Amino acid sequence: MTDGQRGVVLVTGGSRGIGAAASIALAADGWDVGVNYRTQADEAARVVKACAEQGRRTVAVQADVTQADQLERLFDTVTAELGPIGAVINNAGVVSPAGRVAEYDAERLERVFRINAVSAFLVAGAAVRRMSTAYGGNGGVLVNISSRAAVLGSAGEYVDYAASKAAVDALTVGLANEVATEGVRVVGVRPGLIETDIHAPGRLDRLGTTPPLGRPGTAQEVAEVIAFLASDRASYMTGTSVDVSGGR
Ligand code: NAP
Repeated sequence: MTDGQRGVVLVTGGSRGIGAAASIALAADGWDVGVNYRTQADEAARVVKACAEQGRRTVAVQADVTQADQLERLFDTVTAELGPIGAVINNAGVVSPAGRVAEYDAERLERVFRINAVSAFLVAGAAVRRMSTAYGGNGGVLVNISSRAAVLGSAGEYVDYAASKAAVDALTVGLANEVATEGVRVVGVRPGLIETDIHAPGRLDRLGTTPPLGRPGTAQEVAEVIAFLASDRASYMTGTSVDVSGGR
């Protein structure tokens, strides 16, 4: 690798919010970036342009990460366009509508667990099959985007979302131990209240000043931690998750 290049990173859900900010921060840190999106091609193109302005190679790839065949195509396309993948940011996710546990139906539960938990496992598996030395890879890093909700529980809002993110936390610990001797680090980030479009209208206005730091965080503040964890600067970190939550 030359010019301070770190290799190739794939960011799921890179078209908006935390994934978009992470893509641009990783490009600024020397990574070539595969930007995955599901529906927002224009937003993904904007992120690709911003990554290219950092002097890095970049590609946008449409894929729904809940679909195993689309996921394989996503990893294969990024590898073919940019080269072997050395880091994956497991970021795509959704929240549920506000509601109490007693009101949840199976359809709601299956949706949030499918997108946040099942897809996180599918992405992790695909990442290990490309990066682990046990599969012929060169090693790498998987950064799982969880949530402080996994610890706080989100009572009255979306306990199902919180539980789906607790599954991501367990994935981080368990998988890290599985692949620690195969050149792969697995780490997590638990954002708190971050200014993105994921929130229901009015939620940030209502809760934004409740963190001890007195404000919501920005996607950029989460992206900086993701870039650090993906880099060799975090070379002795695995099986752990970092809270980026203003003390919340
Ligand atoms: P966001 O602004 O709503 O962006 C979500 C991104 O995920 C979009 O790029 C979207 O793509 C993509 N996406 C959703 N479902 C997908 C699928 N099935 N396949 C591929 N891409 C998919 O959300 P965000 O706030 O940045 O959240 C990013 C991650 O951080 C999520 O895992 C979320 O749970 C977590 N998080 C966020 C906060 C917060 O306060 N914002 C706090 C804690 C944790 P398209 O737009 O192209 O459809």
